Amino acid sequence: MVHNITLIPGDGIGPEVTDAARRTLEATGVKFNWDIVSAGSIAMKETGTPLPSEVLESIKKNKVALKGPVTTPIGTGFRSVNVALRQRLNLYACLRPCKSYRGVPSRYQDIDLVVVRENTEGLYSGIEFERGTEEAMKLIDLLAVTLGIQVKMDSGISLKPISESGSRNIVKFAFEHARKNGRKKVSAIHKANIMKFSDGLFLSTAREVAKEYPDIEFEDVIVDALCMRLVRSPEQYDVLVLPNLYGDIISDLCAGLVGGLGMAPGANIGEEIAIFEPTHGSAPKYTGQNKTNPMATILSGMLMLRHIGEAEAANKLEQAIAEVVVEGTSVTYDLKFGTGGTPVGTSQVADAIIEKMETS
Ligand code: NAD
Repeated sequence: MVHNITLIPGDGIGPEVTDAARRTLEATGVKFNWDIVSAGSIAMKETGTPLPSEVLESIKKNKVALKGPVTTPIGTGFRSVNVALRQRLNLYACLRPCKSYRGVPSRYQDIDLVVVRENTEGLYSGIEFERGTEEAMKLIDLLAVTLGIQVKMDSGISLKPISESGSRNIVKFAFEHARKNGRKKVSAIHKANIMKFSDGLFLSTAREVAKEYPDIEFEDVIVDALCMRLVRSPEQYDVLVLPNLYGDIISDLCAGLVGGLGMAPGANIGEEIAIFEPTHGSAPKYTGQNKTNPMATILSGMLMLRHIGEAEAANKLEQAIAEVVVEGTSVTYDLKFGTGGTPVGTSQVADAIIEKMETS
């Protein structure tokens, strides 16, 4: 069977890491028909928009995509292509497994936890009011008149809507993932003591959903306490389910537990469509240098293989990655951290993984 997959190389280091992932995926023996489409700053230059309609059409047709990171200009410029893709395709669940591989330099060993991040609402909804605009003034007036709340006139405002239905979907996703993958505990992360109506709704919904899964332990943890406990004793966590912004931040923290962003894969999943991409961004300073670690993207490809029913190929690929990491000779600079060894480049990591699969 040939799998039709949309491939979005992205920008910055995206084209290099997705090329490495594509080569290793093809070397598993699985057949792909790649539909390569451009998004981000490269698409912006070519077509005048960072998210051309053909990207959305291709993903809707193929249902599965592998994506490299895409730069989002800070402060001004176009809005995030990543957020737009997640919202427009309703990819409400972001799944980010964080797993230790032996040989990766890290303060922690044997980490195996999963971050499940709500992907479409909360502070990423894009409902923002720029300081000094008519809309911002109207909102500030409305708050003063209806609630008696005084907001400084020179404020910029971002809204954080969290819905019961969105919370239900993401918490159910986390429990279903736990059940299917033999995991024991789901922790719902929030700041409901302060944000009573947004995080509070997320938490009360999570408590309700948890009752439908008596076989899986449930707890809730306040996000700041979670940060401290994750650094102190990460082994006490299994599946974490979080609203959007906390999920984004905690994903990077968890990536740090397993050796950094170079080892952190991810998937954005909806009812019908899934986009697989690393947790890391486009690392612009390393563009075109054949330097950064492609493993996060290759591991995202491994998750994609499982998603499309190619479990055997996924196991073979993961085994080859694990062997290359433990040998430690064909790894990039980030996996040489503190060891003094000479790193190899992005494409050489892919070569080494392919060679392992060919000789296994
Ligand atoms: P980043 O993840 O791109 O890079 C931060 C640092 O992490 C890099 O400088 C590098 O030292 C390290 N790093 C990242 N990926 C690595 C890899 N594969 N191997 C080795 N080291 C790696 O984060 P940033 O600098 O905050 O973001 C850069 C751009 O990427 C921004 O425009 C941001 O909006 C965007 N971004 C995109 C996505 C996405 O496309 N899904 C995700 C996060 C950030």
